[in-house]
Amino acid sequence: MGARAIHTDNIHPSAVSRSAAHSLSNADSDSAPSTEALWLSVRALLRKKVGTENFRRWLESMRCERCGQDGTVVISLPTRFMRDWVETHYGAMISATWREAGYELEDIRFGVLPSVEVASAGQPVVVGQTQTSAIGDLPANSDRTAMPLIGTALPVNGLPAKAVSSAMKDWRDDLCAPLDARFTFDQFVVGKPNELAHAAARRVAETSSVSFNPLFLYGGVGLGKTHLMHAIAWHIRGQNNGRRVIYMSAEKFMYQFVRALRFKDTMAFKEEFRSVDVLMIDDVQFISGKDSTQEEFFHTFNALVDENRQIVVSADKSPRELDQIEERLRSRLGWGLCADIHPTSYELRLGILQSKAEQSRRGVPANVLEFLAHRITSNVRELEGALNRLTAHGDLVGQTISLDMVGEVLHDILRTHDRTLTVEDIQRRVAEHYNMRLAEMCSTRRERAVARPRQVAMYLAKQLTSRSLPDIGRRFGGRDHTTVIHAVRKVEELCQTDKDLRQDVDLLRRLLQGA
Ligand code: ADP
Ligand code: MG
Repeated sequence: MGARAIHTDNIHPSAVSRSAAHSLSNADSDSAPSTEALWLSVRALLRKKVGTENFRRWLESMRCERCGQDGTVVISLPTRFMRDWVETHYGAMISATWREAGYELEDIRFGVLPSVEVASAGQPVVVGQTQTSAIGDLPANSDRTAMPLIGTALPVNGLPAKAVSSAMKDWRDDLCAPLDARFTFDQFVVGKPNELAHAAARRVAETSSVSFNPLFLYGGVGLGKTHLMHAIAWHIRGQNNGRRVIYMSAEKFMYQFVRALRFKDTMAFKEEFRSVDVLMIDDVQFISGKDSTQEEFFHTFNALVDENRQIVVSADKSPRELDQIEERLRSRLGWGLCADIHPTSYELRLGILQSKAEQSRRGVPANVLEFLAHRITSNVRELEGALNRLTAHGDLVGQTISLDMVGEVLHDILRTHDRTLTVEDIQRRVAEHYNMRLAEMCSTRRERAVARPRQVAMYLAKQLTSRSLPDIGRRFGGRDHTTVIHAVRKVEELCQTDKDLRQDVDLLRRLLQGA
C-alpha cells in the first residue's frame, strides 16, 4: 500500500509490522524477544544520552524496520526532513548506541516511513508526529521493489529453519495490511474529480448488499485510491457487525500466494480469501505478468463473486488499459462499476489544503494555501508533502508561515512545476484570481472591475515576459502600446498606495513565477 515501507533488497515483508507501535523485523525468530529488547535498550540509552526533550522531539518516532543477523539495521522516520535531521545529527550516536547495546552493527540505514501504525487490536496508534507524508523520498511505489517473491523457491530472508514453521503459522494473521489512521471518510475531501469514486466507496462501506462487483477504482498516483480503500475498511470495522474485510496490496497478495505454495498451504489460502465479505486489492496493475498468480486471482475472484462477496480493486489505469493482465481477468475486472478519479481541480486542492491545515492546527495563511493549490498540481500526495514541509520548517525555526517562507523551503518542488510563462498564462491566472472571464482580458469594457485586473495582467506581462509593449497590447484585444504603458504606470502607482492591490500583485507574481 502506497509508500508505506522502506524496503531494501532483502527486508522481510513483516518489516511492515502491524503488531506493535515499534515495528521490528526479526531476522531470527528465536531471538525475537531479545531483538525487541535490544531495540528498547537502544532507545533507552539514547533517551539518556540526548535528554527527554530532544528524544521526544527527534527520536521518539524512530522505528526499527529491520535488525538483521548480518548486522544491518534499518530505521525509519515519519518524514524526510526528520530522517535527514536525525541522520545528520544523531546518526553516529545511534550507531554507537547499537554497539553499546551489544549488537554487531555493520551497516545502518535511515529511511522515511509514515508514522501511523495499527496495533494488533486494530486500534490506530499514532506514533510520534502526525505530519507523516513521505516527502518525495520514497517513491510512491517504493514498496513494490522489495517483495522477494518471484520464482518458486521463495527466499525466507534469513529465517532459520526453526522459524519457518512459525512463519507459516503466522501468515494468516498477516493478511490484512495495516490501515493508516488518517485514511478515513471523514478526512477525505470530496470534489468533482473524485465524487463518483467517493460515493461508490461509501456505498460499499455502508451497505452489506452488493450492488456492483467489483468496484474498480482507478486514477493516477496520489489521488486517493488507497485512502478510499482504507476508509471502507475503517468504516466496516467500526460497525462491528461481523463483516470481514481484507485490504492488501496486489503484491502482498502475490507474495502470500507464493508463500502458500511454498508451504503447500494453498487450500487454506483460498479458503481464507473466500471467507471474507469484502476483499480489497490495491494496485492490481502489479499483478501483471505472473501467470499463476493471475490464475489464482481469477479463481478467487470468481468464487467471491459467485458467493456474492464484495470486491474492490484499484489500479492506475482502467481495466481495458491493463495490458499486462490476461484478457479474461481484465474483462472480468471491468464488469462492475469503474470509478475514475480525475486529476484534482484547483478547488479540490484548496479544500484539501484547508482541511489538512485545520487538522494540523497550525496557522497557515490563506494566501499560502492558495499559492500551493495553484502551483502544486501534480497530486495530493505532493501537495500534502509541501504543506508538511512548510509546517515542520515553521515549527523548527519558530516562524509563522508566510509566502516568503514558501519560496525558501519549497524551491525545489516549485522549480519542477515551472515552465515558460506566456501572456496567456498571465491573463488566465489574473482572470481566475479576480473571478472574471478570460475573454474580458481582450474585451472593450472599461468598468473598473474589469479594467483594473486587465491592467494588472498587462503590468505582469511586461514584468514577467520578454514581449514588447506593442506585442503585449496586441494580445490584449489589439490594444495600442500606449495603453500598455499607461497600465504599467497605473499599477506601479497604485502599488504605492493601495495595500490590497499590492498584495494581489505580489501573490500573482509569485504564483506565476514560482516564488
Ligand atoms: P493513491 O493510492 O491514489 O496513489 P493515496 O490514497 O495514497 O493515493 O493518497 C495520497 C495522499 O493524498 C494520502 O495522504 C491521502 O490521504 C491524500 N489524499 C488524496 N485524496 C484526498 C482527498 N480527496 N482528501 C484528503 N486527502 C486526500
Ligand atoms: Mg495507493
